[in-house]
Amino acid sequence: SSPLQFAVFGHPIAHSLSPPIHQAFARQFGIELAYRTIDAPPSTFADAVKHFFDHEGGRGANVTLPHKAAAFALADEHTQAAARVGTANVLTRRPDGGLVAHNTDGAGMVRDLTERHGIDLRGHDTLMLGAGGAARGVAWSLFDAGVATLTIVNRTPAAADALADAIGEPARVHTRYWEELGNIGSYDLIVNATSAGTLGQSFTLPFSLAASRALCYDLGYGKSAVGFLAWARAANALYAYDGLGMLIETAADAFELWHGKRPDTEPVYQSLRAQGS
Ligand code: NDP
Repeated sequence: SSPLQFAVFGHPIAHSLSPPIHQAFARQFGIELAYRTIDAPPSTFADAVKHFFDHEGGRGANVTLPHKAAAFALADEHTQAAARVGTANVLTRRPDGGLVAHNTDGAGMVRDLTERHGIDLRGHDTLMLGAGGAARGVAWSLFDAGVATLTIVNRTPAAADALADAIGEPARVHTRYWEELGNIGSYDLIVNATSAGTLGQSFTLPFSLAASRALCYDLGYGKSAVGFLAWARAANALYAYDGLGMLIETAADAFELWHGKRPDTEPVYQSLRAQGS
């Protein structure tokens, strides 16, 4: 019989780590599966998803840049975590053929920090740089994990204000201008949720942002996180982590949704690190 069919949709997507991560999880259980990348530009994304599930035996899909909002929009049902964020990174198929939109980004980031790195986020004053899809994906989960406050700073202020309004906790969520970064105090947790590193761009940040024992976290990984993590170390942050662990944790959630089994993420994390990711 042909193996179960899975895919990750993105644009571009060729260098995605999702296929090797899912194959490594599958080997833990002796599951045989096909997991491929599907590069779809936005204009054909919805048709490509429909074709995958209706005609190619698709059992589940991951969705990444730039399709997370479109994946949410085309689904027939949305989990609570997806509904509050308004985007989806995982699609599952119901027995009646309807598609369900899930968002595991925030839970994956929090699990990476709390379980892999052993950090207790309760009470942290948090600074979020960026207000795009990834920032949105993790914002609510940070509150689930107990952060005290969230200050959102985005190059384009309107997007920060829109995210703060969506979260709807005016006493604990603030926005500031990028130009103010030098005099808005210091933070226990600083999250780089911008795509600057991925785009090969950089920015300078004042060291005053990092409180003593600060934790700095870049949602990007590999080369894209190098600049921010170098800044974090220079600012004397106690911890500086990239988003590789988050990627693997979000993949584990997708795997469990599709296969009903919880993979062990640590060997996969160690192996990708050893290979230089
Ligand atoms: P979006 O395009 O939705 O948002 C990009 C954000 O970055 C915006 O806030 C944008 O600001 C800001 N930005 C871009 N360039 C600069 C710059 N030069 N200086 C300052 N701010 C800048 O992207 P995503 O939110 O989807 O992705 C962000 C990052 O998160 C990516 O690197 C991605 O790889 C990573 N990611 C990692 C995941 C993981 O599992 N580890 C999961 C999801 C994302 P403005 O509004 O002004 O344009």
